[in-house]
Amino acid sequence: MTLETIDLAQAAPSVSAEAVAIGAHARRSFQPLPRPDLSWTPAVEAATAHLYARVSKVIPPVEWPFHAPYVKAINDLKKVRNAVILAHNYQTPEIYNCVADYVGDSLQLAKMAAASEADVIVQGGVHFMAETSKVLNPAKTVLIPDSQAGCSLAESITAADIRALRAQYPGVPIVAYVNTSAEVKAEVDICCTSSNAVKVVESLGVERVIMAPDRYLAENVAAQTSVKIIAWHGACEVHERFTAEEIQTYRAHHPGLTVIAHPECPREVVEVSDFSGSTAAMIDYVRTKKPARVLLVTECSMSDNVAAETTGTQFVRPCNFCPHMKRITLPRILDSLLEMREEVVIDPALATRARRSVQRMIDLG
Ligand code: SF4
Repeated sequence: MTLETIDLAQAAPSVSAEAVAIGAHARRSFQPLPRPDLSWTPAVEAATAHLYARVSKVIPPVEWPFHAPYVKAINDLKKVRNAVILAHNYQTPEIYNCVADYVGDSLQLAKMAAASEADVIVQGGVHFMAETSKVLNPAKTVLIPDSQAGCSLAESITAADIRALRAQYPGVPIVAYVNTSAEVKAEVDICCTSSNAVKVVESLGVERVIMAPDRYLAENVAAQTSVKIIAWHGACEVHERFTAEEIQTYRAHHPGLTVIAHPECPREVVEVSDFSGSTAAMIDYVRTKKPARVLLVTECSMSDNVAAETTGTQFVRPCNFCPHMKRITLPRILDSLLEMREEVVIDPALATRARRSVQRMIDLG
């Protein structure tokens, strides 16, 4: 494994003030709709009973009367707005299972939305995901229910940082994880996901590659390739908290435990796990291998979402919680559809450059 870590100046948040201002202008062209009645009634109970059946293993009956009126109102409103909701695997079960049209990791979601006939996309996820949806769906209106839903990883690097890397390492290609802003994607050579990162790095046919922004993903890729990886110093605040010692403690208390770790975890955590892969690969592992007892070393809502659809597997749940993902709630999704806010707007020329980096990855297959 050959790994070098870059240490440059601290980065600034990547959502540009200009994009927010343009979004505010675009919002004025939509007609707000009146707020629906959000009472818990027998009609609401009957209309949402089939959805409660999906989540009854992870949402207690006493909580459902709070969620159900929003679930019904959102599902009704989606038809009025010709909208789809994309829910990342880390969204809470009432969003993931009851109002989402597409679920998955950020790239899966953006690609699925591109194939839909909807005019409006509501992103159940964080800001960089909504930007990726807009980059791949330039003709659709993309809304994020809370524009403050950021990401420690995406905000660890800016477009100016990428330009500084180019100057520091002339001729060395730069690979950006999809967990980056559109401005960063526009500056790099190609994007990668946690599932295809090794393939992307090796496709470039060079001895050295810069990987940004996740230093742990870079370490985990470097362990699987002879290409020298130059790593940026960003990290996911959720995954970097896991330790190998913690995993060993879970194993000691839960005999027969299968441990599946996300590659944003530190290398020492991946090394003591049975499998490592993207959120989509983790879900696929549980569906196909059906382990008797499993620990998903990732954000805590994912265990709830996989458990809701799984029988015969016991989930051991460490709860590392992403505060940014949890800014997206049913009330905020409802407000987003009623008022058509916050719209994600990206300069078309910048979006074209960002799309090139994403498309280059997609074209690898
Ligand atoms: S879980 Fe980590 S990478 Fe995902 S949005 Fe939260 S901080 Fe970002």
